[in-house]
Amino acid sequence: MAQQIIQAIRGMNDILPEDTVYWQKLESIIRDLLGRYGYQEIRFPVVEKTELFKRSIGEVTDIVEKEMYTFADRNGDNLTLRPEGTAPCVRAAIQNGLLHNQVQRLWYTGPMFRHERPQKGRYRQFHQVGVETFGMASPDLDAELILMTARLWQQLGLDNVELQLNSLGTRESRAVYRKELVRYFEQHKDQLDEDSLRRLNSNPLRILDTKNPALRDVVADAPKLMAHLDDESREHFETLCGLLDDAGITYCVNPCLVRGLDYYSRTVFEWVTDQLGAQGTICAGGRFDGLVEQLGGKATPSAGFAIGLERLLALVRENLQPDNRPHLYLVLVGEAAQKKGVLLAEQLRDAMSALRIMTNCGGGSFKSQFKKADKCGAQFALVLGEDEVTQKTVSIKFLRGEHSQNQETLAQDDLPAWLEGKLTNI
Ligand code: ATP
Ligand code: MG
Repeated sequence: MAQQIIQAIRGMNDILPEDTVYWQKLESIIRDLLGRYGYQEIRFPVVEKTELFKRSIGEVTDIVEKEMYTFADRNGDNLTLRPEGTAPCVRAAIQNGLLHNQVQRLWYTGPMFRHERPQKGRYRQFHQVGVETFGMASPDLDAELILMTARLWQQLGLDNVELQLNSLGTRESRAVYRKELVRYFEQHKDQLDEDSLRRLNSNPLRILDTKNPALRDVVADAPKLMAHLDDESREHFETLCGLLDDAGITYCVNPCLVRGLDYYSRTVFEWVTDQLGAQGTICAGGRFDGLVEQLGGKATPSAGFAIGLERLLALVRENLQPDNRPHLYLVLVGEAAQKKGVLLAEQLRDAMSALRIMTNCGGGSFKSQFKKADKCGAQFALVLGEDEVTQKTVSIKFLRGEHSQNQETLAQDDLPAWLEGKLTNI
């Protein structure tokens, strides 16, 4: 009986070779850029104790309320697949002593897991590149984070992304604002939806973040957090805005930008595009000065951001032009050529470290081998038949461009020098 095929989990995608080349190109551009600003990579586990996310992200958030992949392992420990990287990064930094009187600029990348409704730009396993910094309280750091992302968009040829900016003040100034906000929404209870009514007492700021268009008016008229900022937070925000102005970065102050997660303070920002429908945020971040302490460390100013790689890739894919196709395909006809071919390919790899050469394995006719050469996208086919083996030569067939169909014969020893002159993308 034929076995049934087992499918991947909904919302968790395979990334196939035709796509991984784009992923690799994107990741390498990001990695290089982060290196240019002095950021270092950190890697932490995909699974953490559930408590870590509950304590950092906040109990009354979409993530903790309904999106986490949480399970008991065989010992009965309560574990969660990481839904984001900030909490694990902070945990790792505290645990490994990275925060003792030190400034840190860290980045990470990898899969995150959230049980959301899968749709374009929203998956259950998705990938982020995240940056977290520690020990820098002043707004020049906030500006650095934003300038770094702006440079990334520029390098990727991405325009039409809008920077939205807000300040959440400190925990104390937010508490005052929160009271006023609750008072206002209490007066407009009849206009709230079920979610918002639930949040009214638990996390009223999140009502500002609602995606329900029916609430637009009541949210637009709500008291503004900006008007309740403490003096220091206001100055912090104004300095940041000034730095961005000086650098020629345009932004829009969005008083409803509160972010889904509880741990933010002061600066919050998002880069938003209108080209991805409802899933328009490609990068979100801000300051979370209280989080390290909340997770048991010594109070440490911190700020960071996370980029959603699926969404970013969807926007810039056309601009990336990755090329990891082989330069050469080695066509080997006859037993002697098959043997010699293995060695010739190794000699070429010794001579030219950047050369990508694929050998035909398993024989086959000229015709079938040329088909494979063409399909893999190589620039040249090197042909080794019985004559070439005895004469220590190789025939070269041009497969692409204006000279395709041309053919030359060369001494095998002269190949590296000839290739140096001919290969366009080495
Ligand atoms: P959204 O409002 O779109 O749900 P979020 O506020 O939950 O986003 P963050 O937790 O700030 O998102 O994550 C940072 C970035 O990661 C987002 O801006 C987005 O680009 C990406 N992201 C978040 N959730 C998903 C998902 N389920 N699938 C794909 N990308 C995601
Ligand atoms: Mg979300």
